[in-house]
Amino acid sequence: MLGQLTEIFSRYPQVLFGFTSIDYSTFFPEYCSALVFAVPYGGQLTLRNYTEAGFEQGIVEARAVLEEIVAQLEQALTESGINYFIPPVAQSSETELVAPFSFKYAAVNAGLGWIGKNDVVITEKYGPRVRLSAILIDAEFPYGERVEQSRCPEECRLCVDICPHGALTGRQWDIHSQRRELIDYQLCNQKRSLFIKSHGRKNACGLCLAVCPFGQGK
Ligand code: SF4
Ligand code: SF4
Repeated sequence: MLGQLTEIFSRYPQVLFGFTSIDYSTFFPEYCSALVFAVPYGGQLTLRNYTEAGFEQGIVEARAVLEEIVAQLEQALTESGINYFIPPVAQSSETELVAPFSFKYAAVNAGLGWIGKNDVVITEKYGPRVRLSAILIDAEFPYGERVEQSRCPEECRLCVDICPHGALTGRQWDIHSQRRELIDYQLCNQKRSLFIKSHGRKNACGLCLAVCPFGQGK
């Protein structure tokens, strides 16, 4: 099965992927592993070329690639008779803003990156400019090495200082950190939600991503 899944990713050399045990999750033991992958945004925005609409477009393009990959993974797993589950991206509650299965935590456990001071996964190759997805699988795989410490430079505050609402605390992440220690996510969500009327969607604010020096120019 591993060979079939990695063959799919060989068609998308730009996409990062890895496996993790999910023995920390409520989906275990029905599913023992997660395959996590990170699709770079269509446009790799920096502050020099940042626009909110451009950032949204990059998300849309990454989502299309992600859906293509998921369809192929589903087909391969179904043909092999292996149980799998695609956890929803959406939060089950607008109050807690927590999805039933955290792609971010799975990505960290699979070794794809760490959580930056902007509260998103930072990959060495693309920085935070990736869209994450995961598929839970009832099979074991060679697992990646969990990242336990942030690799953000101690002195870097670029993302913290650029947030127009002061939603980021500037605290350095480690594997024991809680999300609320890094970000006032209610505030970030509330400010972005103000645009639903005018945009038909939340504001795709990507300022704290575009400013990150990791992955610029990729
Ligand atoms: S997405 Fe925008 S509002 Fe939210 S923390 Fe980042 S810069 Fe601030
Ligand atoms: S801008 Fe600096 S502090 Fe923020 S996530 Fe990137 S490296 Fe980390």
